Amino acid sequence: MLYLVSTPIGNLGDITLRALEVLRAADYVASEDTRKTGLLLKHFDIKKPQIAFHEHNEEKARPRIIGLVQAGQSVAVVSNAGTPGIADPGYTLVRRAIDLDLPVTMVPGPSALVMALVLSGLPSHSFTFRGFPPRKSGKRRTFLEVDRDSPHTLVFYESPHRLRDFLADALAVYGDRPAAVANELTKMFESVRRGALSELIAQLEGTEPRGEYVVVIEGAVDQ
Ligand code: SAM
Repeated sequence: MLYLVSTPIGNLGDITLRALEVLRAADYVASEDTRKTGLLLKHFDIKKPQIAFHEHNEEKARPRIIGLVQAGQSVAVVSNAGTPGIADPGYTLVRRAIDLDLPVTMVPGPSALVMALVLSGLPSHSFTFRGFPPRKSGKRRTFLEVDRDSPHTLVFYESPHRLRDFLADALAVYGDRPAAVANELTKMFESVRRGALSELIAQLEGTEPRGEYVVVIEGAVDQ
């Protein structure tokens, strides 16, 4: 069996009972970062052989993981944080398992995307997750323009040092829409700022964004 196992996005208390059960029972743990996952496993007193599985070795690691599952072994795939396959490796492995008719399932759990969307206070019944925007402003604006007329709430991941530039481009492309900036979710300094994009930009002025961010922006409202 191939298991995609969600792990905490900050607060270790968010590990689920089933995640622990599956990690304990797995023959192998496929990890985006074996050192980080080693610390997680150690915290829960789990000893398990790990297989590195990250964006730079996916092509090589995938056949090995698939081969183990074909041989009847159970492999638990974890990313550094949150849900594998969400802005993290996982998709191609699931695709391959499905194509080969191999047993695949998931242990659901934390994901920054869902938590930020729900806490944003923006409509959550229909949304578009865009992951990480391009780093350069020109490409980023083109990327944002795709959803300019979309009625769905938009969710983005962004790094702290690009956050302000991202918000400036979002304001230029979408206009001054309601939005939310979620930071350090589930951690000690968790915060969710809500307001129009221009207000969020003003709030962040003169600060040095730190930690992890999710930006949520309201969709286009009917004219
Ligand atoms: N697979 C993860 C998930 O399910 O959320 C996402 C992995 S992605 C490589 C990392 C990005 O997720 C961060 O740059 C940030 O945008 C977002 N993120 C992860 N943890 C977060 C947290 N505790 N607070 C806010 N954003 C977080």
